[in-house]
Amino acid sequence: MSLIVQKFGGTSVANPNRIKEVAKRIIRTLEKGYDVVVVVSAAGDTTDRLISLAYEITPSPAEREIDMLISTGEQISSALLAMAIESLGHPAISFTGSQIEILTDDTHTKAKIVDINTERIWKHLHLGKVVVVAGFQGISIDKDITTLGRGGSDLTAVALAHVLKAKVCEIYTDVPGVYTANPKIVQDARKLDFISSEEMLELASSGAKVLQSRSVELAKKFGVLIHVRSSFTDEEGTMVKEKVKGMEEALVTGIAEDIDQAKITILDVPDRPGIAAKVFGELARESINVDMIIQSAPIRDKNDISFTIAKSDLEKSLKIMNKVKEEVGAKDVISDKNVAKVSVVGVGMRTHSGVAAKMFSALASKDINIEMISTSEIKISCIIKKDKMEEAVKILHDTFELGKTSYKDKDV
Ligand code: ADP
Ligand code: ASP
Ligand code: MG
Repeated sequence: MSLIVQKFGGTSVANPNRIKEVAKRIIRTLEKGYDVVVVVSAAGDTTDRLISLAYEITPSPAEREIDMLISTGEQISSALLAMAIESLGHPAISFTGSQIEILTDDTHTKAKIVDINTERIWKHLHLGKVVVVAGFQGISIDKDITTLGRGGSDLTAVALAHVLKAKVCEIYTDVPGVYTANPKIVQDARKLDFISSEEMLELASSGAKVLQSRSVELAKKFGVLIHVRSSFTDEEGTMVKEKVKGMEEALVTGIAEDIDQAKITILDVPDRPGIAAKVFGELARESINVDMIIQSAPIRDKNDISFTIAKSDLEKSLKIMNKVKEEVGAKDVISDKNVAKVSVVGVGMRTHSGVAAKMFSALASKDINIEMISTSEIKISCIIKKDKMEEAVKILHDTFELGKTSYKDKDV
C-alpha cells in the first residue's frame, strides 16, 4: 500500500478543536487507501513560550537543557493527536523522536539527523495504526534529547518521507501554499502551483519560513516530493519538485524577508593574512552559521569586518568576538539587532542581467538604505533597517510584477 507523510504545523494543532479537525483529515486520507505517518509541531507559540521561560531562569541556559525543555511541546501535541484519531475509531500511536530512534549528532538546538530506525514505525503501520511522530527532535549517540533547529518538524517529516519511501510529504500549514512573497505582508502575493526545489531552497534560506531550509535541502538531495498546503481548506497547494517546466522564463519567482538577523562589526582589525580565518573559524567551531560578510578597504593597515548571524546566536557570537578582539588587537565589537534581510530569488537571473540594478533602484525609490549586499547565481540579498522591511518587500514585489494583479501568465 502507498504511504503518505503528513506534517501539521503549530497553528494546525493550536487547540483541541483544531486537533480534532486534523484527526478527521487524517481519517479521510486513510479512507482513500493510504497508510499515514503523521508529524506534528508544538501547538501555537509553545516553543517560543518555553524558550522565554528558560531565559526567565537564566540569561545563558545550557543548550542541552533547552533541548530537554523545547522538545516537550511536540510530545504534547503528538499524544493529543493520537487520542483524537483513536476517538474517531481508528487505532493510532504516538512516539517521541527518541522512541523512534531518530539518531542525531550532539549539536544541541540544531542537531543533524544521522540515521532513522524505521522498525517501530513499520511494525505499527503493519498493525493498521496511524503512527504520529513528535517532530523537531531526535536523540544523540550519548542518548541526550536533541532538537533540529527552528521549524525542524518540516525536517522530521521530509526525513521520514525519505526513509519510508512515501509517495509525497504533505506539509499542512496556515496558508494555502508557497506564495510569491509572505502573504501576511503582501496582500497581492500570488500562490505558486509549482516551485523548483532550487528556488524553494533559496527562498527558505533567505527567511521564507513556510518551509525550513534544511528540510528543502534534504528533499532536494533525495528527491522527496513536497506538497505545501492549508490545513484549513481542501484546495491544492504548492508542489516543490526538482524540475518545473517553463521556470527558466521567470526572472524573479519570489521575495523573502528575514527579521531574525543580527549584524556584528569588529572595528579596526589589523589587516594581515589569517585574521578572517581566525574570526570565522572560531564561530564555525561553535556551529554558528555566518550569512553575509563584508570587509572594508584598509585604512592605515586596519579594516572593519561586519557579518550577519541568526539573532538567536548573538549572545554566543559576541562572547566569541570579544575574545577574538583581545587576541588580534582589534578596537571594538558592536552589534545591531535592528536589521532585516530582503532577497529576490529566481532562476532567470542566470541568463538575465540587470536584476540587481533594478532591485537597488526600487529600494532607493523608497529611500531605503542598503547596508550589505550578497549575491548568488539565483539570489540577491540586501541588509536594510528592520523598520523598512515591509515597505521593501512590497516595492520589490511590485517592481518585479509578481502580484495577482500585475503578473502576466507564463507557461509554467
Ligand atoms: P507552521 O507552524 O505550519 O510550520 P510557519 O509559521 O512555520 O507555519 O510557516 C508558515 C508561515 O510562513 C505563513 O504563515 C507565512 O506568514 C510565512 N511565509 C513566509 N514567506 C512565505 C511564502 N513565500 N509563502 C507562504 N508563506 C510564507
Ligand atoms: N516547534 C518548533 C518550532 O517552533 C518546530 C516546528 O514548529 O517545526 O520551531
Ligand atoms: Mg514551520
